[in-house]
Amino acid sequence: MKVVIIGNNVAGTFTAQNIRYLNNEIEIEIFTQENYPYYTRVKLPELISKKVRIDDLIVFKDEWYKNKNLKLSLNKKVNKIDPNNKIIYIEGEKTPFSYDKLILALGSVPNIPPIKNASEMKTEKKGVFTLRSINDALEIRDYIKKFAVEKAIVIGGGLLGLELANQIKDYNLETTVVEFFPRLLPRQLDEECGTMLKEEVESRGIKVVLDAATQEILGNGRVTGIKLKDGQTLDADIVLIQAGIRPTIDLAKEVNIHTNKGIIVNEFLETSEKDIYAVGDCIEYKNQIWGIIPACMEQSKIAASSVLGLKKTDYKGTTPKNTLKIVGLELTSIGTIDPTKEEGGSWEILKKADKKDCCYQKLVLKDNKLKGAILFGENKAMPFVYNKMEEDVNRDELKKLLELYTYICSNCGMEYDEAKMDVLFKDLLQNFKCPECGAPKDEFKIKD
Ligand SMILES: Cc1cc2nc3c(=O)[nH]c(=O)nc-3n(C[C@H](O)[C@H](O)[C@H](O)COP(=O)(O)OP(=O)(O)OC[C@H]3O[C@@H](n4cnc5c(N)ncnc54)[C@H](O)[C@@H]3O)c2cc1C
Repeated sequence: MKVVIIGNNVAGTFTAQNIRYLNNEIEIEIFTQENYPYYTRVKLPELISKKVRIDDLIVFKDEWYKNKNLKLSLNKKVNKIDPNNKIIYIEGEKTPFSYDKLILALGSVPNIPPIKNASEMKTEKKGVFTLRSINDALEIRDYIKKFAVEKAIVIGGGLLGLELANQIKDYNLETTVVEFFPRLLPRQLDEECGTMLKEEVESRGIKVVLDAATQEILGNGRVTGIKLKDGQTLDADIVLIQAGIRPTIDLAKEVNIHTNKGIIVNEFLETSEKDIYAVGDCIEYKNQIWGIIPACMEQSKIAASSVLGLKKTDYKGTTPKNTLKIVGLELTSIGTIDPTKEEGGSWEILKKADKKDCCYQKLVLKDNKLKGAILFGENKAMPFVYNKMEEDVNRDELKKLLELYTYICSNCGMEYDEAKMDVLFKDLLQNFKCPECGAPKDEFKIKD
């Protein structure tokens, strides 16, 4: 049997590895249009700031492919699939390539919102960029140097936008992040934590403009700034767009494989076409796309066993898990973080917001099961959260974990449960009085 995989990043590579783990005989060939073996995209912002070199990003070198007996073909763009004849065509090559089973690990590309001039100025390399590949990072770095860039705008206040802003600031660029929503990391944070993060990011010398819809990229020969919908203009010598992803679906769509936002798959990662599977950023399962590495890893195991006809496990989706990688700024968001948008069940929130120490911890429970968390500025609870997701948890155990206490008035017995209040007991004003009996703050003791 010959398995062909298109795409050589996390999804394609780990599917190949998992197939090889299950079967030593099968012929496996991977095609990628990029000119590097599997590398991590996670540290691309650091490639711009030269904190890492290309070689540091390469996860598996040629030796690894040889040892696993995987054939890797770089610089090969597949431009057509013919499912009836089970062949694919490579750009610039006449002879088609045959397969028995085909795996689409095509990934995704940066989304470019409908901003006037954005796509054109990016294509014409006039100072508008997105960051997805090693080549993108090198182009951004060259542009900053060549044109002695002083001011940068990052459109998109999500994880990648902030990480990118943090790295380019190291070139002493005056850097501004422009976010469409009224808070940073709109998908990973609630309003309160978003506000704390904004203050922390600004304290690092990055300006943040929220609630700002970019209407137009300004400049003719080269970019000079952006215009917002409210008419305001902001100057810039470079504009970096990090506004989400778009799954790569064209190859599949052209041959009528079912697609929507992504390539639609079932619980075994099978597409609507026999013997064609899809995995990673390019897929859509139950109306959801993921765009994160843990999802690719999980899916790659299922795809591998499906291809071999084993079908032992089915895909149930992956809990969203995101960590902001800015040195000295601990932030992890996992699962459901805003129950107001969810339906049914009995939701409960345990929260510790310590604004003075810039620390915010929120645990979200549904019917006593841990469903999600935000951990900002303090990650002691992280191992617990990772281990207990979707499991029954005890409220007292969680209070202890977050170091939340119940204080009791020794005069009247009134209780101040920090887990239910917005303000920690220590942060109450010194002239706070017991709401029941008027006893002073000093009368309160921690309840055993
Ligand atoms: C800067 C950055 C930082 C990130 N940080 C994190 C992080 O911290 N944590 C996290 O979980 N995720 C992170 N991600 C997301 C993560 O990198 C992706 O989820 C992951 O790369 C998806 O892997 P994939 O194999 O599905 O697709 P991709 O990585 O997109 O790879 C698909 C490959 O297929 C190739 N290809 C597509 N079409 C063809 C064709 N027709 N012919 C040949 N080759 C083709 C593409 O060129 C590409 O090389 C980050 C992404 C970026 C850009």
